[in-house]
Amino acid sequence: MTYIHDTIVKLQKTSPAQAEFYQAVEEVLDSLQPILETSEKYKKHAIIERIVEPERQIMFRVPWVDDQGNIQVNKGYRIEFNSALGPYKGGLRFHPSVNASIIKFLGFEQIFKNALTGLPIGGGKGGANFDPKGKSDGEIMRFCQSFINELYRHIGPTTDVPAGDIGVGAREIGYMFGQYKRLTGNYDGVFTGKSLLWGGSLVRKEATGYGCVYFAQYMLEAKDDSLAGKRCLVSGAGNVAIYTIEKLYQLGAVPVTCSDSSGTIYHEAGINLETLKELKEVRKVRLDEYVTAHPDAKFIPAAEYPADGHAVWRIPAQLAFPCATQNELTEADAQALVANGVIAVSEGANMPSTQDAVEVFLDARICYGPGKAANAGGVSTSQLEMAQNASMQRWSFEEVDEKLKVIMKNIFLSASETAAEFGEPHNLVLGANIAGFRKVADAMIEQGVV
Ligand code: GLU
Repeated sequence: MTYIHDTIVKLQKTSPAQAEFYQAVEEVLDSLQPILETSEKYKKHAIIERIVEPERQIMFRVPWVDDQGNIQVNKGYRIEFNSALGPYKGGLRFHPSVNASIIKFLGFEQIFKNALTGLPIGGGKGGANFDPKGKSDGEIMRFCQSFINELYRHIGPTTDVPAGDIGVGAREIGYMFGQYKRLTGNYDGVFTGKSLLWGGSLVRKEATGYGCVYFAQYMLEAKDDSLAGKRCLVSGAGNVAIYTIEKLYQLGAVPVTCSDSSGTIYHEAGINLETLKELKEVRKVRLDEYVTAHPDAKFIPAAEYPADGHAVWRIPAQLAFPCATQNELTEADAQALVANGVIAVSEGANMPSTQDAVEVFLDARICYGPGKAANAGGVSTSQLEMAQNASMQRWSFEEVDEKLKVIMKNIFLSASETAAEFGEPHNLVLGANIAGFRKVADAMIEQGVV
C-alpha cells in the first residue's frame, strides 16, 4: 500500500539511521492495512503521519563523577510520543546500546501496548546509554541524580510518569524520585515501580513476567490446552525472566532455561528459582556461577552460540518466552523452535523476535503473543500503582494480582476478537495492533489537530 510505504520512506529521510524504529513502525503499519482500507477517516485526519511523529523528544547531557574522580558524560533521552489516551507512560532504560532509535521504537510500541490495556495512559519511553554493570552504588546514585537534574522539569504525575526497564529497578527509581522531590518539593506519584516502603504497589515487580505467563495461559486455554507439565524455554535473567519462571512453576509448567549476556543455562530438571534469584537479585553476578550450585545443569557460553541466532531457542521444548531484549530471536531460531514442536510463544521483552521470525510463527499457525500484548502486564500494574497513589490507598497482593489477571484476559480477548473481525483469527499481531491503534486514533480525531 503506497500510503504506508510513503510514510516509511519519509521517516527514513527525516529521521535517518533509526533501524529499530523503522522496524517497529513497519510492523505496526503493515498490520493496519485492512483498517486503513476500510476506514477513510484515518487518512483524512492524517493519523498515520501524526502517530509516527513523537509529540516531543527531549535529549540531554548527563554528566557525573565516577569513584576515581573522573568526569563521565552520557546521553539522556525522554520521548513523549503520544498523549491522546492519558499522561505519557513508559519506562527508562539504562544500557550501553541505548540511542534515539531504540528509545523511539520502545516509545512507539508503548503507545499501542498502553492503549491495548484499556487503561488511561499515553505512550513514552526514555533512558540513557549508561552501563550500570560494575558501577558502585554511589556511582549509580550520582548518575540518577544528574539524569533527573534535567528530566524533572518534563515529568509529573498527570503529565509524564516514568518507570523502570532494562537497567532500572527499584534502587534507581528511588534515587531518581529523591532528586525529583528535592528539586520540586513535591511528594507525588511521578514514578511507578517504587519501593513498597514509600508508595510502590505490590505485584509491580512481578507483573511483567506474571502477565506474560497469564497471556500464554489464555492463548492455550482458547485451544483447550494448558500450561500444566509443559517444558518451557525462557531467555533473560532479569526481572521479567525471573517472574516468568516463578509463575510458570506456580501454574505447573517446567522452565528449563535462562540466559544473560555471558551465556545460557540449560537445566533439564528445571531452573532452580532460588539460585537464580540469589545470583541475579542479591549478588548481581554472571549466570555461569549457576552450575557451581547445580552441576547437572549445562552452561553454554555466548561465544558458542550458532552464527545465525541464539542457543536457547535450539533446545527442544513446547513453549517459548523471550524475556531478554529486542531482536534476540532470529528467523533461524524461529524455524528451529517450530521444527522442535513449540506450540506457543509469549513475549516478555519488547520486540524480541525479528520481523522474519514473526512471519515464521504466523505461517506455522502456532500461538504467538507479541510483546505489546503479552508483556503489557508491567505497565498495567504501573497504572494500578498510579491509581493507588492518587487515591491514597494500598491494595493487597491478591487484589492487584486479580486485577492483573483480568487486564491480561481483556488484552487477549481484545487482540483475538479484533483478529477474528479482520478475518485472521490466529494473527494476534494484527489483532493487537489494530485494537490498540483504533483506540488511539479515534481519540486523536476527537481531540482535533494537535
Ligand atoms: N518498561 C516497561 C514496558 O516496557 C514498563 C513501563 C511502565 O511500567 O511504565 O512496558
